[in-house]
Amino acid sequence: MQLSNRLQSLKPSATIAMTQKARELKNQGLDIISLSIGEPDFNTPDFIKEAAKKAIDENWSAYPPIAGFPDLKDAIIKKFKRDNQIDYKPSQIVVSTGAKQSIYNILQSLISKGDEVIIPTPYWVSYSDIVELSEGTPIFVDATIENDFKVTAEQIEAAITPKTKAIIYSSPCNPSGSVYSKEELKSIATVLSKYKNIIIISDEIYEHITYGQKMTSIASFPEVYDQTVTINGLAKGFAMTGWRIGFIGAPEWIAKACETLQGQVTSGANSIAQKAAVTALEADPSAIQYMVDAFEERRKLMIGWANDIDGFKVNEPEGAFYIFPDVSELFGKTFQGITINSADDLALFILEKALVAVVSGTAFGSPNCIRISYAASVEELEEAMKRIKNALS
Ligand code: PMP
Repeated sequence: MQLSNRLQSLKPSATIAMTQKARELKNQGLDIISLSIGEPDFNTPDFIKEAAKKAIDENWSAYPPIAGFPDLKDAIIKKFKRDNQIDYKPSQIVVSTGAKQSIYNILQSLISKGDEVIIPTPYWVSYSDIVELSEGTPIFVDATIENDFKVTAEQIEAAITPKTKAIIYSSPCNPSGSVYSKEELKSIATVLSKYKNIIIISDEIYEHITYGQKMTSIASFPEVYDQTVTINGLAKGFAMTGWRIGFIGAPEWIAKACETLQGQVTSGANSIAQKAAVTALEADPSAIQYMVDAFEERRKLMIGWANDIDGFKVNEPEGAFYIFPDVSELFGKTFQGITINSADDLALFILEKALVAVVSGTAFGSPNCIRISYAASVEELEEAMKRIKNALS
């Protein structure tokens, strides 16, 4: 008895694995603070919950259209126009069971064996695994803390080969929190517009969680509109991770393929969650600003606490809810017979000695860093950072 080759080489998500490990230790009675998961610590806003209750009472219980309810597609189209200055038609929109499924649909639809997909590092954990699951080859382009974890148009162009089929990135970025400026994206768009057979996959799930400049959608540049898929979802900005709603705006031929695939796999996203999503997306983004404000306050505190830890080199993230310190200065140090040789070792050391769960940057393609989420209360964050500082000193 044997699993498929595909599954034999598939790794569990590192962030989920760390969160599970922290949960197990917690269940054994250890006082673990978990800063490993990418999930807002807020409840879904009441006005969205009310819409879901109404949808249940109105009996939205049958199979939805595969690509999403027409009123949700309409709300998504308006949202893209309002927030991102992108025009889509209903035939270009596909609603899925989370942005993760949107990414899976797109890569499964586009990638054949041996196709190359450019992934700037650090990247969100699942990109490379889903590319590999699609039999593609991830081509990593490295960004480090020195350039604010952002790659340049020149670096991207140097990675392009005749086999390049797509590029995928997130801005705001999970894990670094970096946000590409309009000018930076413009120069990336200028380069990629010369390669019309390369699809740009822009993951904008952290769109609303920014602290300075607003993010720019690359599809808003006309020269790349026809070759760009824009991904977004409700999970992060609206504190709706468990509702599992993501969506894409894409060239029609790609949207059609995702719909066909989804029709064979899920038959569409949960109907009640879709109805709640209409209400969420129609609301003015100011309705969720209180969460962004709370994240901003914590970010400031976290940067201060992290800067106070010897061996942590920290940049200032402009979005999302993570800090991503470079910890390579600590490599080679030994304590009680344990030598820290990598970010993996350090994450384990912090879990065991400080009882704080963080994620090694290795999973994000940045083996010199660790990711610490600040989607937790200020009290928890303060205690966690105190424990980390003590353990490391
Ligand atoms: N993209 C990025 C960059 C993410 O951080 C996440 C969630 N961790 C996702 C996509 C997946 O979002 P969803 O929960 O909507 O599937």
